[in-house]
Amino acid sequence: MNLSRRSLFKFGAFGAAALSTPSLITTRAFAEVPMSTVTQAGFNRLKLGSFEVTVLQDGARAVENPQSIFGTNKTKEEVEGLLTENFLPIDKMQFTFAPVLVNTGTDLILFDTGNGAGGREGGAGRMLENLKASGYTPEQVTLVVISHMHGDHIGGITEGGAPTFPNARYAFGQAEFDFWKDEKLIGSPAEGGHKGVVANIVPLAEKATFYGDGASIASGITAIAAAGHTPGHTVFNIESGGRNLMLTADTANHFVLSLRQPDWEVRFDADKAAAAATRRKVFERIAADRIPFIGYHMPYPSVGYVEKAGEGFRFVPETYQLDI
Ligand SMILES: [Zn+2]
Repeated sequence: MNLSRRSLFKFGAFGAAALSTPSLITTRAFAEVPMSTVTQAGFNRLKLGSFEVTVLQDGARAVENPQSIFGTNKTKEEVEGLLTENFLPIDKMQFTFAPVLVNTGTDLILFDTGNGAGGREGGAGRMLENLKASGYTPEQVTLVVISHMHGDHIGGITEGGAPTFPNARYAFGQAEFDFWKDEKLIGSPAEGGHKGVVANIVPLAEKATFYGDGASIASGITAIAAAGHTPGHTVFNIESGGRNLMLTADTANHFVLSLRQPDWEVRFDADKAAAAATRRKVFERIAADRIPFIGYHMPYPSVGYVEKAGEGFRFVPETYQLDI
């Protein structure tokens, strides 16, 4: 083998050209393509009989230290073990928020309203933007249904001090409204929630219908009391064309920690024992009926099934079941 000086030179030139390929790209008119700031599609559309169901993404927020929220009566090791077993990080978790828009053909009904302006700095408060992206205007919404009156569910009901949905009526849970409106909450840990309800919900009461357990919200949509998370927390059964879907709101707030271990205590649940009993009751039914559900804090796109597994339930994300 006898490489001449010339062929060595040629080989060297070839090698240099190959290594310099990136610099050739910079001769284009636009040298850089910035990373997109869009992280996910803003809505997820499903069919249920003759109803159209749209999950609107209100955004996502990461929080530290999952064990300070879920499994507060368990050891750090137990909580971390369950997270690790399910491929989840142990130091941080993500919350997503999923208001749901249902077009029944006669009504356009929004279930919960997201964080609103107060959540925007943290990356949430995008319900309205995504409602528009999904093809509707706020003027078209005929009814706003509130599952319970925590800030991440009622924050978007007003925008700039005015009702976000100018033509809508409202459906509020009677027990929930009565609890949060009560002035005896002043000076309690629930004082902030009380003030939010007085500011944003009470002025809308004259355009509201107050529902209780078993109430019909609209044709095919029924309220089911599911207290524990809050005193008037409610879930909804939606039925169209012989198909059922449950909106479970905040019955379970994490797809692993709340479902695999329904009895673990959750900081956000007002009555921890009642919340655990409700979790079991609601998800036993969903598992037995093998119907899909949308959980407000299930990982976006927020739709799935559950099957009984071990001490609790296993979350099975929806894929194409509701498209065909
Ligand atoms: Zn919530």
